[in-house]
Parts: sequence; structure tokens; C-alpha cells
Amino acid sequence: MAIRTAHELARLLAEKQASSRELVEEHLGRIRRLEPRLHAFVSVLEESALAQADASDARRRAGRKLSAFDGVPVAVKDNICTRGVRTTCSSRILENFIPPYNATVVDRLAAAGLVTLGKTNMDEFAMGSSTENSAFGESRNPWDPECVPGGSSGGSAVAVAAGEAPWALGSDTGGSIRQPAALCGIVGVKPTYGMVSRYGLVAFASSLDQIGPMTRDVRDAASLLQLVAGQDRMDSTSAPRAVPDLEAAVEKGSFKGVRIGKPREYFPEEGLDPEVRDAVLRALELARAGGAEIVDVSLPHSPYAVACYYLVATAEASSNLARYDGVQYGYRNQDARNVVDMFSRTRADGFGREVRRRIMMGTYALSAGYFDAYYLKALKVRTLIKRDFEAAFDQCDVILGPTSPTPAFRMGSKTSDPLQMYLCDIFTISLNLAGACGVSLPCGFSSSGLPIGLQLQAKPFAEEALLGAAAAFERALAADTAREPAILSGSA
Ligand code: GLN
Repeated sequence: MAIRTAHELARLLAEKQASSRELVEEHLGRIRRLEPRLHAFVSVLEESALAQADASDARRRAGRKLSAFDGVPVAVKDNICTRGVRTTCSSRILENFIPPYNATVVDRLAAAGLVTLGKTNMDEFAMGSSTENSAFGESRNPWDPECVPGGSSGGSAVAVAAGEAPWALGSDTGGSIRQPAALCGIVGVKPTYGMVSRYGLVAFASSLDQIGPMTRDVRDAASLLQLVAGQDRMDSTSAPRAVPDLEAAVEKGSFKGVRIGKPREYFPEEGLDPEVRDAVLRALELARAGGAEIVDVSLPHSPYAVACYYLVATAEASSNLARYDGVQYGYRNQDARNVVDMFSRTRADGFGREVRRRIMMGTYALSAGYFDAYYLKALKVRTLIKRDFEAAFDQCDVILGPTSPTPAFRMGSKTSDPLQMYLCDIFTISLNLAGACGVSLPCGFSSSGLPIGLQLQAKPFAEEALLGAAAAFERALAADTAREPAILSGSA
């Protein structure tokens, strides 16, 4: 059966062709069938999902539906707090952590009547680009289970690409929504910093983290973002501005008169797979043919973005993760001789290798004597990167480039070299440092049949322009992207 978007499911519900229970059962069936091979979920919430579906069906029968998406299922990344439901961040240290409250985004999904199918797998504490850093085992790419799905929101990307959920929430600190979306052939949006409440998102790097939608098409992305966005009094960094009509922006989306910036730094001679380059440049030609104006722009400080990010993000992480000491949350080592020993043993057992590495790097960058040379310097570079974007956006409405330098890579091929893994985000990271918004959408396939993603970026709070342009690309590329993973037809 063809996999449907959330909008298609909403229409089936509206036309009484299906009940929420039937839709939820259909997705749970696919989860049961595919999870042994894909492992997109840390927790599947079968019982509560069916109960929520029945409640939704009852509301609809009584003429009291909460939104157009009442009864549509959704999956949620496991670093987003769900009241009474284990929220692990794919870490041993939070293996049994049950939050006493919902993230604001979870409350907003519930207020619209959505049904939570489960919590999705991720790199531990969202640190990684392959979902291989999960303490509970890696997720696999539905297009080729020998390849990674990307990360850190790999589980959400897999669930959507394989039809285990019509749409999902992820989080993006340096690329964690866009990169897995690209590697799994779906749409992923990193909203402007401040667009979506971070209340209840387990903090990795608070000045960079944003929650965003991962979906099968741009229209669903606009709708899911619309549902969760907007100011929240529980998050002082959420912006006090009205959320624009994103669905209308998608309807109206066109290339006519749009100025698309092509930064030379996003098309380097080395380090960009030729098939990815060709697919992205082909899409650019389609935009030109459709009436877009192509402008050469430059983001001269991009070469420093990865280094800058790994100082800022690790510094913030070392501070944010200090709270996991065995006292208040989850795991505690029982063999300790005294309290300091308990802290250190708990953290040594509870955190995986990559998380420990990041805590050490961040603590080093913040320590007396090194602070000015590393952390402070990184903050200055961050300002320069932000200014690059401001200058570029004086010349264009959206910036175009690849999302990931390569299509999905083989499991295990980068795990022994952290730097290789860090370079997966070379085209996504600077956007987070600048606080701007971006989207990855499918633009074709490699010769080995793996999806390729193209990235669009826009200035802070220009989500309408971003999603309008994304919709135009999606329409222009429809013939090149209409495929489904073989695993779904049972032939793989
Ligand atoms: N891959 C990057 C990292 O490992 C980005 C992760 C993210 O966006 N959460 O930090």
C-alpha cells in the first residue's frame, strides 16, 4: 500500500473513509513488520496510541474535533519530554527517566488531537550524524539497511521514510534534522532559533537547539511546524511574534522573481560527492527555467564553522550535562565509596564514548586559561558567520546548496574517526550558528539508489519564503523523487 502523508490521512478521516483507530493500527502494523530490520523507535506506545485514537474517533463522532489533524499519528524524538513516558535521549544514563511533564511541543500536538505512536531513536544526547551513537543500537536506512540513516534524528527520519509514522518531530543543533532527512529521502525543517519552544527538549547546546518537523512533503512540514511553533511563556528564548500562515506560503510557492543565492563555499572542488553536486545543480537549473534569478554569493567564514561549532556546542553541552550525576535522574552507580566517586562512576558508566569526548572538549574550552583562546574566540567567529549570512541575504531570498556532502554511508565506516563524522555537517552547521532557518528536501537519487537532499536556507523568521521556495522545488523535482524504498514492497 502506498504510504500517505499526514494531509492525506486527515482527508481520509474528514471523509469518514477511515477511523483514527484504523490509521493507528495500520502504522503499528508497519512498525511491527519493519522494526526488526530498521529500529527507528526506542519505545513504541501501542496501548496509549490506540486509546488516544479511540478518544479522537469519539470526539469526531461528537462533532468536537480539535483540529484538521485530530486522530493523525505522529512520532517524537526521544529527547523531547513526554509525561509518564520514558524519555531516554538514547542514553543509559536516562534509560529509566520518566518525565513528570510534557515538552510544550508535545502539549501542542495533544491539543490538536494527534496520536503519539512512539519515541524515536537518536544519537545519544543528539551528538552524532549516523544514529550509531545510540546506547540502544543503531537505526538503519530503509533505502539500504547496510547504510546509516544519518543523525542525530535518525529514528524520526527512518520512521517517516518507511511509513512507520506519517510525520515526526526531530531536533537540530548542527544539522540533526536536515542531514537525516537528506539521507532518508524526506523533508526536514530547522526552524529559526526562537520559532519553536525548547521547553522540555533535553538540552544539548541551548543556543543552537531547535525542534522541527520531518515529513514526506513540504506541505506536511508547513502544517506540523504551524502546529508546534509560536511563543511559549515557559521558554524565554521563544520569540514574541505571530506565526505566519505557512500552509498558505506553500500553496503560493513559486520560482517567479525568487532570488536564489549560490554560495561558492557550498560547492567546493573537494569533499563534495559529484553525484550530489550534479543533482543539486540540476535542481538549480530547473529553478532558473522556472523564473528564479540565480545570484552568486559568498559565506567567507564557512570554513571555520565546524571548528566554531565544536567549541560552542561542546562548551554548552559540558554545562548542560553536568546535571546527570546520579542524584536526581536515572542511572546511579551502586558501588561507589563516597559521593564524588558516585558522580564519576555514574557518569563513566552512564555516558557513551562520544558524549564523554564532548564533555571533555567543552570543559577544556571553558577552563581558566583556555577560555579566551577557545570559547571566546569561537563566539567571535560565530558573529562573523552570522554577518556573512546577513550580507548574503541582502542579495538573495534563499540560499541553495547540498544538505550533506555524500549520500548515506555504510554503517561503521566513520565510527573510528570522529572528525570524519563531524564533517557530515559541514553544510548545515553554520545555519545554526547564525540562528537562521533551513530545509532539506529530496532532489534525486545516486547511481546506487540512495536519496540525495538539497538544502535551502533563509534569514531568521523567513519561513514563508523558505517553504514557498521549497514547495516550488518539490513540484519541479516531482518526477525525479517519486520512488519508495524496496523494503516496503517486501522485495528487499
Ligand atoms: N552532528 C552534529 C553533532 O554531532 C549535529 C547534531 C545535532 O544537530 N544535534 O553535534
